[in-house]
Amino acid sequence: MIEMKDVYKTYPNGVTALNGINLSIDQGEFVYVVGPSGAGKSTLISMMFREEKPTKGSIAINGIQLNKLKERKVPHLRRDIGVVFQDFKLLPRLTVYENIAFALEVIEESPKNIRRRVMEVLDLVKLKNKARHIPDELSGGEQQRVSIARAIVNRPKMMIADEPTGNLDPETSWEIMRIFEEINARGTTIIMATHSKEIVNTIKKRVIAVENGRIFRDEERGEYGYEV
Ligand code: ADP
Ligand code: ADP
Repeated sequence: MIEMKDVYKTYPNGVTALNGINLSIDQGEFVYVVGPSGAGKSTLISMMFREEKPTKGSIAINGIQLNKLKERKVPHLRRDIGVVFQDFKLLPRLTVYENIAFALEVIEESPKNIRRRVMEVLDLVKLKNKARHIPDELSGGEQQRVSIARAIVNRPKMMIADEPTGNLDPETSWEIMRIFEEINARGTTIIMATHSKEIVNTIKKRVIAVENGRIFRDEERGEYGYEV
């Protein structure tokens, strides 16, 4: 479902962030992307939802060749991909319910389906009682759960998370990981960039380790593998 061949990325300022990436990720996998700051993790995962384009090389996502993808088809690609960020990126003036419903309104779901589906995902992240609150009224962990609910409300084939526990305390981070495991158990591919050695070494999954824009280790049930 994700296929990268000889992918290079040099930013306009001349920094080479990716230096020949080859990887293949199947539907249903759970993959951690680890590596020191500046290794290229964010750049690598940004390629997967067409936030960044490679300078060279080919990328296919869910059978779509990204180098041939017309700009107007990008929203179609992104419908199958939920994205979760370290800083949540919720809309501050909308309630929890509205933040999640928004993604479905854009694709013109019926009001009845929207309501049912939003309540389903709020149940999954255990936030039904906060539906009418605005993000500022929630803790960091709760806000991240809202952003996860928003990411999966469309039933995407994959979820990409860029340091989703980076701003959270350890206990809250474990809660987030339990939700990720549940989402993955339902068949959604998960790709998660993380700096959490404890998470990677406890909840064992495939580990892709990146350094200087290259993959230097790719292991099933891998370890975090270096000290930071
Ligand atoms: P990581 O997520 O592992 O910290 P990044 O992918 O963010 O790594 O960054 C890889 C390299 O690319 C770094 O040297 C960083 O400074 C550079 N970089 C990242 N984004 C940009 C950008 N938009 N413009 C220029 N350089 C960038
Ligand atoms: P911490 O000790 O980092 O504050 P917790 O108190 O939530 O974290 O959890 C204590 C320990 O229990 C963790 O260090 C970890 O080894 C284990 N643990 C917690 N949640 C999970 C989980 N979802 N899967 C596997 N192990 C877990």
